[in-house]
Amino acid sequence: MVGYCLLVLGADWFAKSQFGTTIDGDWFLLWMASGTEELREFWALYWKGICGTLAAVALAWAIAIVAIWRWPKWAVGAIAAGVVVLALGGPARIAGFKPVYFAWDTFLRFGEYRHLASVVGAERKTERPPLRESGRNRLVILGESLTSRRMGVYGYPKDTTPELARLIAEGRLELKPERRATNQYTARALMDMMLDDEHTQVWRERADGYRVVLVSAQDRWERYCGIEQLLFDACDERVYIRQDGKNVYDEELVPAVKKAMEGHSPCVVYVHMMGSHFLPGDRVPEAFRAAKGSKAVGFDDYDWSVLYTDHVVSQLVRLDPSAEIYFTSDHGESVNAGRWRDPSDEAMWYVPEIASGYARAE
Ligand SMILES: [Zn+2]
Repeated sequence: MVGYCLLVLGADWFAKSQFGTTIDGDWFLLWMASGTEELREFWALYWKGICGTLAAVALAWAIAIVAIWRWPKWAVGAIAAGVVVLALGGPARIAGFKPVYFAWDTFLRFGEYRHLASVVGAERKTERPPLRESGRNRLVILGESLTSRRMGVYGYPKDTTPELARLIAEGRLELKPERRATNQYTARALMDMMLDDEHTQVWRERADGYRVVLVSAQDRWERYCGIEQLLFDACDERVYIRQDGKNVYDEELVPAVKKAMEGHSPCVVYVHMMGSHFLPGDRVPEAFRAAKGSKAVGFDDYDWSVLYTDHVVSQLVRLDPSAEIYFTSDHGESVNAGRWRDPSDEAMWYVPEIASGYARAE
């Protein structure tokens, strides 16, 4: 346990000296983001996670100590071999643990957290102008773990995006060059997209007179949820269709977005999908597989999740024929590299950018 603490302290020191950042700021952000009720709800989850991690680490250390005590030569040899493999970058999966990337991404960018919190603090104190009376609605669709490298419209040989292709052919949507994501983790990639030096994107739209609504299929209490909560702090309403841990499919976003669009217009509706999130096979309903089976010959689980995203996004786009559209993803995916991903895989970074008449509020 002492070794583990020293490891954390060492990584923290390294991250701070290299990147000016220290350990993550969940508590800080959550305190900023939440009401007392929400904080209480998160508290139990947070401690369950922390205690689970500590127990696993204690167990790993106990096994290592027993092994070193019982079979010292073998154990020390195995540890030394492990260190060498890690230092050399290892095979593809272990490459996700390359020390610099790990330190940078795990021991977060605390300065940016502090910036987010101070921006939102100032926005809360600023009076917002009244809602506009006219203008086009705007739909911002944030895909999840969707790499453009697996999308038919970006040249993938399998037809994973027939509906988007049709909307592009009809002139409803414009296919832009693929975009490079800035981070492989959802909340931090969103922070790069939706926070600038002075304001959150939602605040700018709200200040511009739009009613702004978030409709999310993601967990409200994911780790780093404080970031998401603060990025969408200026929303008039936030709707989470996935509650009490129950699994929902992205198609349930469609009626929720339709309802959100029925309020005061013009509005901006942010849609946060579950998309192709890790274990992409779980994101696709059986009924959809049964209906599309003949068109999806040779599709793996990831291809299926892209086909399903194509189906949901096209329905969202058709909800309001005059709405401005912006569709992208937080980051891509190193398909089949497992839970820990492979940052050296280009598919991890390249995401779609498909739009219609959309311009960011300045
Ligand atoms: Zn993500």
